[in-house]
Parts: sequence; structure tokens; C-alpha cells
Amino acid sequence: MRIAVVGTGYVGLVTGVCLAEVGHYVVGIDTNADKIHKLKAGIAPIYEPGIEALLKRNAGHERLTFTTDLAAAIRDCDCVFIAVGTPPGEDGAADLQYVKAVATAIGQHAQTSMLVIVKSTVPVGTCDAVEAVLVAELKKRGSTLHLPVVSNPEFLKEGTAIDDFMKPDRIIAGTEDEGAREKLRQMYQPFVVDDPSRLYLMDRHSSELTKYGANAMLATRISFMNELARLCEKVGANIDQVRLGMGADPRIGRKFLYAGPGYGGSCFPKDVAALVKTGSAQGLELAVINAVESANVAQKLWVAGKLKRHFGSLKGKRIAVWGLAFKPGTDDVREAPAKTIIEVLLGDGAVVCAHDPEAMLNFGVEIGPFAALSYAKSAYDALEGVDALVLVTEWSEYKRPNWKKIKGLMRTPAVFDFRNQYDGEQLVKNGFFYECIGR
Ligand code: NAD
Repeated sequence: MRIAVVGTGYVGLVTGVCLAEVGHYVVGIDTNADKIHKLKAGIAPIYEPGIEALLKRNAGHERLTFTTDLAAAIRDCDCVFIAVGTPPGEDGAADLQYVKAVATAIGQHAQTSMLVIVKSTVPVGTCDAVEAVLVAELKKRGSTLHLPVVSNPEFLKEGTAIDDFMKPDRIIAGTEDEGAREKLRQMYQPFVVDDPSRLYLMDRHSSELTKYGANAMLATRISFMNELARLCEKVGANIDQVRLGMGADPRIGRKFLYAGPGYGGSCFPKDVAALVKTGSAQGLELAVINAVESANVAQKLWVAGKLKRHFGSLKGKRIAVWGLAFKPGTDDVREAPAKTIIEVLLGDGAVVCAHDPEAMLNFGVEIGPFAALSYAKSAYDALEGVDALVLVTEWSEYKRPNWKKIKGLMRTPAVFDFRNQYDGEQLVKNGFFYECIGR
């Protein structure tokens, strides 16, 4: 099939390279000329394990090209994906301006009938709105083209995005148009060849809501465990033992029960907020989901406050922060807990030296310049003369550090482990102060 993917960010690029990998002919389109320039040279503008190899291989087989010219790219396509951002607007609702701009451009330039597949995460009813934009644009130029709109939210996880896309747990697609359903079956057949029932075809509103429901449920588990962790600290229980005991119940399961510094990233915070907005637009107060969000905001601040509670004052304290990306395996820093934590530390008068294997450049742009914030070339460089080490993102390279060397580098050996990665008893035996979450 000939497929256009509009937006070459974390989702659009992965979608494009994976569709090309199974033999489709894909063109990636972006308004960001710098990204397209890099992609044409075989350079991925994002950090995502495995993406550059796929990019090079498929570009080499001429199945994958990139352009800024949407009109030319969609001329003879069977399907066009909309995979642009849907960031939160001022009021928390999803900002749909990019989705609508792409829909307008498709309506203006489509020359043949094609599926318009909305891959961006969009509130219920957005596909109806996209359809209305297309119909209006086609009408303006007297065109009778048929452009069925499909909802097809994406569930990949940054850091394992290629694997998630190539071997999906499920593909959700919403359309009641039988022709569109058949095209979707053909396009996705290579990804569900072992079990075609993993392609769930449903109506558009259900498909749109499935994505928000899934993200809100995962965010709920995190906020729930974070609250339990705070209670553990008060009553002298251990959240990791509680987690294991709870997770042994198959109705609960073991995954996504880790306490930490609060969830971040480009999806959970904005999708939870947008779902609350969808509820209030319908006159429904989604009390549980609303509480998930406020518990998360509180968690980031509570965790950041641990240092001040320990030291009394942070004036003049030097703090090393390991991990800035919102999770390991990505350079994405959107809504990362590290940002809130570092802002609190700086606000309390600390001097911060941060390290991350992939995300320092993005983080610098996100947080902006601060005289008291610097970045270290290596994890150990960050520790020189500091009063505390704060682990925020559990990259592999931080998992088994050389504690002897660390103790030699630090001014005072205090470790704040916000991902419960280290053996606290051992550290205390070796003369460290150690604090974690809920243990
Ligand atoms: P992103 O910001 O990384 O990428 C969006 C891209 O769209 C950018 O490259 C931007 O330049 C481009 N763009 C914007 N307007 C355009 C236009 N008019 N024409 C062409 N290109 C345009 O965003 P992302 O993280 O890939 O997210 C995209 C969507 O997928 C969002 O709705 C997000 O919620 C959803 N999603 C993201 C993830 C994730 O892990 N990042 C996972 C599942 C779903």
C-alpha cells in the first residue's frame, strides 16, 4: 500500500518506519524542515532504540521517503495518517489546531479517495470534526472524493516503541465503513499475522475513548501506589513488599504498580487532564480521574520536598540529579518529574548539577537557563563535591554504580533514591544517608 504519515515525531516516525519495514511504501511529512533534512540523511531527530537501523534499511529499499510537501506526498496514497501533536491547551483540553490544520490541507489537496487515519490521541468526537473539515474543503472545490475518517490511536511506549509497534498487544481502529475496515485489515495484517483477533474494529467514539481510558487507568495505578507509598512511610510499611503482595492477585497483576516521583511524559498528564475536560463538557464530574491528576502533582512536590525536610535548608547545598528524561530509554522530557524536582531544589537555594545519557539537550531547552543549574559530562562528574545524589530516572547505567568511588566524590554521602533501585541497608552500612519512596 502507499501510505503518507503526517507528523514525524515519536509516533509518526515510528509508524512510518514500521509500516515500511513490512513492505508498504511510506512517505513521512513534516512542517519542520530541519527534521525532514535530518531524516533524508538517515538521521533520526529523536532518540529511540533501533529506529536508525530501520530508517536506513527502508530508505535504502526506497520504501521510505520524507518531504515537507504534503500536497505532492498524498497525491496517490491509499491512506494518510495524521500523527501530529495534541498538546494541552490553557484549560487542559487537547489543543486540536494541528490536527485540524492537517485535515484542512488533506481536504484541499487530495486527488484520489483515501483513508484518513487519525493516529494522534484526540478526544471523543474529533474524528467527526475532522470529517466535517474534509467535507467542507472538498465542497469548496466541488470535489466528490470519498475520504473515510478512521480513529486509530497509538499505544507504543517510548523506549520500546519499535517493538511495541511491530508486535502490538492490540490495534484499535474505529470506523463503521466496511471498505475502510477491509483496507485496515490489509494494512495491519503483517502485524497480527499470528492472531488477527488483536485487531479490534469498533465505532469511532469507542476507539477514541479507548486510548484515554487506557492511559487514565495506567495513571490511576501509579497515583494509587504513590499514595500507598506515602502511607507506608507513615505507618512503617514497605511499599515494595506491599506491591508484590498485591500484584500476586491475578485480578490486579504485577505491572505498573511501582511507586516513584509521579508520572510524566507527553501522554499521561495531558491525556488525564483532557479526559477530565471531556467529562465536564458533558456535565460529568470524573472524580476518580480528577484525583489521579491532583495526586500526581502532589507526589512530585512531596518527593522534591524530601531534601529540604532532611537538610533543613538547601541554601548553598550542592545536589546531583541523575536522570532527566521522563523515563529511561528516551530523550523526551515533556512533563518529566525531574523538571518539577529541580525547580523546587533551585527555588530552595540549592545548586544543581544534572546528568542524563540522552536528554540533557532537550531538558536544557524545556527548563531554560538557571545560573545554579549545570550539566555534567558523566554521571560521576555530576557528583563532585555534592551534598546529595538524587536518582530521578532509572537508566541502566545508574543501576549498579561504584559506591566507593561515589563516596570519595561527594561532600556528604546522602542518596535520595526516587525509583527504589538501591539496597538502602547496604548503603547505610557503608556510611551513606539513604532515603527512598515508601520503604
Ligand atoms: P511530537 O511532538 O513528537 O511530533 C509531532 C510532529 O508533528 C512534529 O514533528 C511536528 O513538527 C509535526 N507537525 C505539527 N504540525 C504539522 C503539520 N501541520 N504538518 C506536518 N507536520 C506537523 O508528538 P508525538 O509524541 O509523536 O505525539 C503525536 C500524537 O501521538 C499525540 O497526539 C500524542 O498524544 C500521541 N501519542 C504519543 C505517544 C508518545 O509516546 N509520544 C504515544 C501514543 C500516542
